[in-house]
Amino acid sequence: MSSTTISRFALATLGLGTLAATTAFGPPARKTSPPQQGVGISLANIDQSVSPCEDFYHYANGNWIKNNPVPAAETRWGAFNELQDRNIAVEKRILVKAAADRSAKPGSNLQKVGDFYAAAMDSAAIEAAGLKYLQPRLTQIAGLKNLSDIQKYMADPKSFGTGWYSFGVRQDSKNSTQYAVAMGQGGLGLGDRDYYLKDDGRSKGIRAAYKAYMTSVFQLLGDAPSLAATNADAVLALETKMAQASRSRVELRDRLKNYNKVTVAQATKDYPSLDIPLVLKENGLSSAQDLIIGQPEYLTAANTLMANTPIADQQQYLRWHLVSGVTSALPKAYGDASFRFQQVLTGAKLQQPRWKRALRATDGALGEAFGQLYVDEAFSPAAKARAKEMVENLRRAYAERIMATDWMSADTKKEAIQKLNAFAVKIGYPDKWKDYSKLKITRQSALENLFATAEWAGKDNTSKFGKPIDRGEWGMTPPTVNAYYNSSMNEIVFPAGILQPPFYDPKADDAVNYGGIGAVIGHEMTHGFDDQGRRSDAKGNLRDWWTKEDNEKFSAKAAMVGKQYSAFSPLDSVHVNGDLTMGENLADIGGLTIAYQAFQKTAEAKGGQKIDGFTPNQRFFLGFAQIWRANQRPEALRQQIQTDPHSPGQYRTNGPLMNMPEFYEAFGCKEGNKMVRATQDRSRIW
Ligand SMILES: [Zn+2]
Repeated sequence: MSSTTISRFALATLGLGTLAATTAFGPPARKTSPPQQGVGISLANIDQSVSPCEDFYHYANGNWIKNNPVPAAETRWGAFNELQDRNIAVEKRILVKAAADRSAKPGSNLQKVGDFYAAAMDSAAIEAAGLKYLQPRLTQIAGLKNLSDIQKYMADPKSFGTGWYSFGVRQDSKNSTQYAVAMGQGGLGLGDRDYYLKDDGRSKGIRAAYKAYMTSVFQLLGDAPSLAATNADAVLALETKMAQASRSRVELRDRLKNYNKVTVAQATKDYPSLDIPLVLKENGLSSAQDLIIGQPEYLTAANTLMANTPIADQQQYLRWHLVSGVTSALPKAYGDASFRFQQVLTGAKLQQPRWKRALRATDGALGEAFGQLYVDEAFSPAAKARAKEMVENLRRAYAERIMATDWMSADTKKEAIQKLNAFAVKIGYPDKWKDYSKLKITRQSALENLFATAEWAGKDNTSKFGKPIDRGEWGMTPPTVNAYYNSSMNEIVFPAGILQPPFYDPKADDAVNYGGIGAVIGHEMTHGFDDQGRRSDAKGNLRDWWTKEDNEKFSAKAAMVGKQYSAFSPLDSVHVNGDLTMGENLADIGGLTIAYQAFQKTAEAKGGQKIDGFTPNQRFFLGFAQIWRANQRPEALRQQIQTDPHSPGQYRTNGPLMNMPEFYEAFGCKEGNKMVRATQDRSRIW
């Protein structure tokens, strides 16, 4: 699904959040009231022993970093997590109340939310059920006799965790008014191709832990120890072959190379073992004429592998992908095995409490079913209006920056402004909520609820085909502490969960809010003009609207950013991957620049009055830096560097600032200071 870019603001793994009504993104502070001391910037977090011109991140956050180690059940701890925790408290209240309400109308959202959470919390019932609800599916896999049986299983929308390849309906990136059927690489149990292919100590350790995890699960399912190990070897060998045929995360970023439209007839001929006509038919997509193939060479390999891999090995693969996807709803021993593996990946010391896992699962399955309740409690129309106002201020500032660039031609500027003006903006929560009426949820079995939800979500996706584009749809639930840009929709989206302190605080001065949520808004806007986002136009279609010369100039500036970030090294021998993080780094740099430009128009910036000893511009940069305070376990940091397109927080802070003369000036930094790049080494695009 990579040629529709959905660029998130924060770590892929950061998700949930809710907010208390008192701290919500409220109405604007009255402009006549004097700025308050001690609000917005936390002076206690600042480490005065570090020079702001040598390492601004540690200057702004050093004391917080020393005083806030990562809690045992977490892998990373920072401002995002603190906010999430406040949000989760609100969500928990909603879910506990819904679970206690036995009189909710059957089939209502309240009944579904309450029953889903209650079933996920009922560890006694899960233990007592054992494999009862899983067994029919295990028996079905054990009964697959030949390739035709495998094909039928793969095509059936009721099957869970089928693996092998990705499949679904999405917007056509070159014709954004239409939905298209897309297929591509997928089906690896480990989160990244390179975990299978690299021979460094950490990769080998992760493979060993993965094999141990599979072996424990196969034993729990009843295999004798030696058979369990043999089965784990078979799955690992098969997934390694799939990994060899898979593209790297950097290769997957290229939207043009990952868009290959072919006719269904051609794809059927090219990949006969996949039985594409059957897959389409079973999913109600027989009318599709074309397919968008993300990675043709992967499907070629999958086609050969499916035909040539012994059925017994494929059964183990399907069995593993079924069970590993639902360990949270199986007896405790399964969850424990999963956590032992997670510990190696992320360094977590303690499993998260059951209620937190159940809450996340409920948000993932039914987020919009209780999103309304959450919004009623935590988000006001005034908050929405205030966010909208800031977005428009940023949009105006962006237009000025585009027009002021000295490297872009008038023709390209015209298209860029058209695209900027066309950005659709979504704030807070959907206008129209998802309809869950066809989803059946009961209190009886947490596992059945997971299967029902997956099947419903699959149908919800495939049923879009042939219909007009649903422009009201959201890709994040309202309590999420995150934001995104969607290139095919050409839209920027800000869930209610992020529109609160420390990103936006109605009690704080403009400097802090422009450094916080202003930089987030600018970040999402810049995704429309990052190295991949710039490839689509105002209508969301992949189309080259750049002159050859402008294209070359942009690429040279981006390459310089890539070089800068690849030189960052948070751990011995571990470097940021400047190619993987390119789009996010460009969005961080551009976003901060635009937020700064917008802030300059405020009365605070013009007045220049100090608050708590800092000038308005200093407070803008401090507010920005304090968003990124975090501690992270070394294992989680390594995982982030390998798999996440976002750079670690300290570089999301210092990286943009090192390119900004406005920052040098605010803190009196001089050439020779670490935060100051030589003129010829700076990158400024906007
Ligand atoms: Zn982003």
